[in-house]
Amino acid sequence: MKKMRRNSDRNKRSTGRLGLSVRGRWSIAALCLALLMAMTALAGCGSATKEETGDGEDEADSVNTIATVNYIPTEKIEGSTLYVEKVENLADDFILGMDASSVISLENSGVTYRNFDGEEEDVFQILAENGVTHIRVRVWNDPYDEDGNGFGGGNCDVDTAIEIGKRATQVGMKLIIDFHYSDFWADPNKQMAPRAWEDMEIEEKTEAVYEFTTEALTAMKEAGVDVDIVQVGNETNGAMCGETIWFNIQYLMQAGSKATREVFPDAMVALHFANPETAGRYADYAKKLDYYDVDYDIFASSYYPFWHGTLENLAEVLSEVAETYGKKVMVMETSYAFSGEDYDFSGNTISDDSTTIVKDYPFSVQGQANSFRDVVDTIANETTNGIGVVYWEGTWISVGGSSWEENSALWEKYGSGWASSYAAVYDPDDAGKYYGGCAVDNQAFFDTDGNPFESLRIFNLVRYGNEVELKADAIDDVTLYVDLNGTVELPETVDAVMTDNSRQAVEVTWDITDEEIEAMYAGGVNTYTVTGEAAGMTATCYVAMIEYNFLTNYSFEDGDLTGWSVTDNAAADELYVEDKVTDSLTGTCHMHFWSEAQNTVDFDLEQTVEELPTGTYKYSISIMGGDAGDDQEVYAYVKIDGEIVATAPMTITSYGEWDTGTIEDITYEEGQEITVGIHVRCQGTGSGAWGKIDDALLNSAAE
Ligand code: CA
Repeated sequence: MKKMRRNSDRNKRSTGRLGLSVRGRWSIAALCLALLMAMTALAGCGSATKEETGDGEDEADSVNTIATVNYIPTEKIEGSTLYVEKVENLADDFILGMDASSVISLENSGVTYRNFDGEEEDVFQILAENGVTHIRVRVWNDPYDEDGNGFGGGNCDVDTAIEIGKRATQVGMKLIIDFHYSDFWADPNKQMAPRAWEDMEIEEKTEAVYEFTTEALTAMKEAGVDVDIVQVGNETNGAMCGETIWFNIQYLMQAGSKATREVFPDAMVALHFANPETAGRYADYAKKLDYYDVDYDIFASSYYPFWHGTLENLAEVLSEVAETYGKKVMVMETSYAFSGEDYDFSGNTISDDSTTIVKDYPFSVQGQANSFRDVVDTIANETTNGIGVVYWEGTWISVGGSSWEENSALWEKYGSGWASSYAAVYDPDDAGKYYGGCAVDNQAFFDTDGNPFESLRIFNLVRYGNEVELKADAIDDVTLYVDLNGTVELPETVDAVMTDNSRQAVEVTWDITDEEIEAMYAGGVNTYTVTGEAAGMTATCYVAMIEYNFLTNYSFEDGDLTGWSVTDNAAADELYVEDKVTDSLTGTCHMHFWSEAQNTVDFDLEQTVEELPTGTYKYSISIMGGDAGDDQEVYAYVKIDGEIVATAPMTITSYGEWDTGTIEDITYEEGQEITVGIHVRCQGTGSGAWGKIDDALLNSAAE
């Protein structure tokens, strides 16, 4: 094989295997196909590396030859309008992959894809032409009901994976095979055994994993699929194939790994996990894998930037595994939205309505490319032994109908939605209830008609850079808090997000009348959306009419305890202001507490206000958390001149369940000292009481 750009040690090592997979007996049909493809390539593609493989040697009768034309460019694609800062030190064999598991179902549903010249073309060729090096495909054991109706999500069984594998191999890409060891989706919330294995004890199930993996991989090998990585389990966060203890899970992983070593001795074995943002999670998994001596090469992570913490944290937790155990690491799934819209009448994982996600890039084609570029940079330059990044389902677009009903008919028939109603026989509570279409059509690299976005070229340009002139790509939203007795003053400039994700102030013209502003004063506590025009784009200002809050740093947005004082009565392990949008009631910060041992959460958080006008006031504060136990004493309180005059009981229940303690009718006279606070004492269940406090409000009460 002459993969020209692949001149690293790893490639040298794998030459033998590549030779094996492409040799074999040439059939007349294969020869014709090869000639046809070579002619097509010569006619249509000037810059790609063209190569035919197969030397006609008889090696194994059962191994087919796939005629390969490598379309992956070895030079920069010129002429793109996409801004790309080059990722330095990117190894020639750095994996820039794409999961494209739903393609066959989409094509069966009538979806077609076009290249940048607007010509209909094989989607795998389009991906290769733009620099995608690997195609990832998931494998479910049996995603069909008894009547042969597919569960959806691409109906990805072994045969589907082989079909995808052959097509990707034909155009020069390698395969990452993603075994879920389930009949449908496996992820951190769901690791169901296939129906055929449900009643098996662990010994039998281990054998089943070995047999299934061996047979599937052998079939792929016989079909000539160029397998580079085999993933044993998908997002196996402490569960896999119905097993929930590591003593059992490791047997299954060992079985999948053993099968891989035997069928594809030069392929790498990957294990795949999610939620790098959870402190200690990956270190714990890696330690267990080491303890059980599980044979694997790659510790892989999902990284969805809107949910999974910072890139710095990702690099840190993966590097720790790489350095401690000598493993390779990579991002096996990532994505970002090119827009906040939905295109197929079936809601998406992230959208303009998402309120608790981290949005470090605008939802735009450029933002999608920048996000991917930064993940690649992090794995290549900030992470020890980082070998690649795979984008998840960048080809999953709408099936194109003009109504939910029209699309649903296609999802049901061809499995092109995330789940069909037929999945109810296997997963009645989730897929069986909420089946529907594509949840990531706003994260694809193609529009609804199958035309590629400029961002697809990131797979090539990330190696070379493309620092075209900066321009404004999006406008940051503005939020304005105005006291009901204050004045609405809309800003004269807003921040434009430039194509390199930097900010520049630009002038804005708001579309609002004096009458509309008057109505805001009259409307009480309320939030209004004002739009305007800036740098040729729509600017948005949210005007929140609020009651004046006499507390400083009421939502902890200063990022510290400015204005507040803490009395820690029992030495909690963690007690500080945390910046984490997903755990905050509003804004991005909140007061965080956690303690591992029982009876070590016992503290008061309070703020004293000076110079309040005489009058009647109300006070409220909110808390949420978990593992607090039944023995808890949590209340909001008000002190006048150091004496508690009123309390409001509160309860810590579970994640996301905020409880607000409110104290009304607080009488205050000038000259007094008023202090408001929250008292938290809980025994804890023994696994670490924790919680979050946010949004303390001290307002003047109505007359
Ligand atoms: Ca959708």
